[in-house]
Amino acid sequence: MPELPEVEVVRRGLAAHALGREVEAVEVLHPRSVRRHLPGPEDFAARLTGRVFAAARRRGKYLWLPLDSGDALLGHLGMSGQLLVQPVDAPAERHLRVRFGLGPVDGRPRIDLRFVDQRMFGGLSFSPAGADLPAELAHIARDPLDPDFDEAGFVRRVRRSASGIKRILLNQTTISGVGNIYADEALWLARIHGDRPGDRLRSADVERVLTAARTVMSAALGQGGTSFDALYVDVNGESGYFDRSLEVYGREGEPCSRCGSLVRRVSFMNRSSFFCPTCQPAPRARRATPA
Ligand SMILES: [Zn+2]
Repeated sequence: MPELPEVEVVRRGLAAHALGREVEAVEVLHPRSVRRHLPGPEDFAARLTGRVFAAARRRGKYLWLPLDSGDALLGHLGMSGQLLVQPVDAPAERHLRVRFGLGPVDGRPRIDLRFVDQRMFGGLSFSPAGADLPAELAHIARDPLDPDFDEAGFVRRVRRSASGIKRILLNQTTISGVGNIYADEALWLARIHGDRPGDRLRSADVERVLTAARTVMSAALGQGGTSFDALYVDVNGESGYFDRSLEVYGREGEPCSRCGSLVRRVSFMNRSSFFCPTCQPAPRARRATPA
């Protein structure tokens, strides 16, 4: 599943290739990929045709392309979605769902923007007046790489919550874009166990987790993003390779690079958490309140 760095890589690719181009044709090959556009695929195509992509933006793992009309094309890659920039004569991908024919710009030839999605948890929609921020995304918090991220507000919210810090990191209304992989990596770097309750952490602990999240996500960005899922490739079809740099995620039974203890895996919300039992001691049980 693409995490924030991968989605940011895609955003940059779209910014480099799609801006200033007119949508000349829209072909929806599978209606499920535009299911969130309730008026249906024909309406989706009609509203986008003739518009020009003005920018490429992101909030958490959502991408949107503001249009010259003030509306936006909104997308989420889901588990396996890809946005590929392809020559117009490239053969159709096996799981091609939506094809946009984009006009020439600045002497560069026509291209296709293709939404390819094997499992179809992702999707595209048309967001009226969504250029600045689609209404669909208003509830999603900024991500830690966003210059306008509210750090003090985040620390306050964490310290008011009795949830485990990992669960808080995965809550998109508090902080967005930190998925399962980067949460584990950030917590390892900050030496904090994911089950430690927010209201038992000091401000300095929370700030350390935040700094660690920024560190691992920035490192991933520099390397093109993590790729666990062979399905994931960036906007030009190039796979990320950050997985080689992961310290704990996917490394059960391997020695921690800091202390040599063996990395452990436990199940967590239908997925897994990986951590070093020595660097990240589990919290002691909360003392029962006297009756
Ligand atoms: Zn360790």
